[in-house]
Formats: sequence, structure tokens, C-alpha cells
Amino acid sequence: MGTDDYELDHIMLTQDVISKRISELAASISEEYRGEELIFTGVLKGAVIFMSDLVRSLDLSVDARMDFIAVSSYGNASTSSGAVKMIKDMDTYIADKHVILVEDIMDTGLTLSYLREMLMARGPETLRTCVLLEKPDRKKVDSILDYRGFTIPDEFVVGYGLDYAGKWRNLPDIWCVTKH
Ligand code: 5GP
Repeated sequence: MGTDDYELDHIMLTQDVISKRISELAASISEEYRGEELIFTGVLKGAVIFMSDLVRSLDLSVDARMDFIAVSSYGNASTSSGAVKMIKDMDTYIADKHVILVEDIMDTGLTLSYLREMLMARGPETLRTCVLLEKPDRKKVDSILDYRGFTIPDEFVVGYGLDYAGKWRNLPDIWCVTKH
């Protein structure tokens, strides 16, 4: 299925709205981790733009570090157990460190829950989760979110890091797409 099947329909969240919410999230994180080293671990590729804006909105007293994980789901992501294949692990040793796992969107929550368990096994001092978007309608796991940007309806969205078949990550706003 090519991207030609889908087209941008309407904006769900403008860049202004996103930016204001990220400032609020960054203020909460700064409050809690003032003076601490904090390792932001982004899930490639969708979280890159969100995480870049988030870390630049932090108070300078937070000693923020950045690392990345890349995963791919086995088979059909919407029906899988959430088991993911690690394509790229993070470089940082996280035992006894403060870590925030950053994802673009939580749909069923299986990916985030799997990654959280995997990182927990490495013995971080604290591990929290942060997602820009949550779709509660499809949630299959108990709440594991510490920081959430927006709760959205069950619609497929692109832009601001989120793609459809690799396309539209660069859009500054978040859009709903429709099939035509
Ligand atoms: P989960 O394991 O929570 O079901 O799946 C999360 C992943 O599904 C996200 O990281 C993202 O790659 C993909 N995903 C879920 N909903 C959307 C959506 O509306 N738009 C895009 N672009 N990806 C989505």
C-alpha cells in the first residue's frame, strides 16, 4: 500500500498548541529533576522531533542527556503481543541513573510496556515514561504513563515526527489522514 492511498485531511493539533503543551511538560520534568542527571531515551524515529523540542524547553539546571532506541514490531503491530525486535540499543549504561523513555504515541501501549520492562531489568534508579499522544480507546495495558502531552481519539495521525510509510514526519502540525 503506497502513501498515494492516503491524504492529509485536517489539522488535529497545531504547532502552537503542541509547543505550549511541551513547555508545560518540560516545566514538570524540570521541577522534579532539578540538579539531576537525566537520560532521555527516545524511540526512533517518531520521537525525534518531540524529544528535541522537549529537551530544549527544560530548565538549564537539569543535566539532560540524549540516547535512542530503534525497534520494529514482529508481524502485524496491531495484533501482536507487543514483542518488539531491537534494531538499535541505547549506548548509555543506565544502572542507577534517572531515565525517561520518550515515545511519539501510545496506541495499545504494548510497545512502551515492553520497552519499559526491558529497561527496568537494567536497574535504573528511576524510569519514567513520556508520550506526546495517547489513544486511550485502544489501550491494552494498565496505565504506565508518567508524562502525557495529549489524549486523542482513535484516528490515524501524522506529522511532528509521526509518519505514514515514512512520509510526513516533517510537518510542523499534527494531521489526521483519510483514505481516498
Ligand atoms: P502500540 O504498541 O502502543 O500499539 O503502538 C505504538 C506505535 O504504533 C507508535 O510508536 C507508532 O509507531 C504506531 N502508531 C500508533 N498509532 C499511530 C498513529 O495514529 N499514527 C502514526 N503515525 N503511528 C501510529
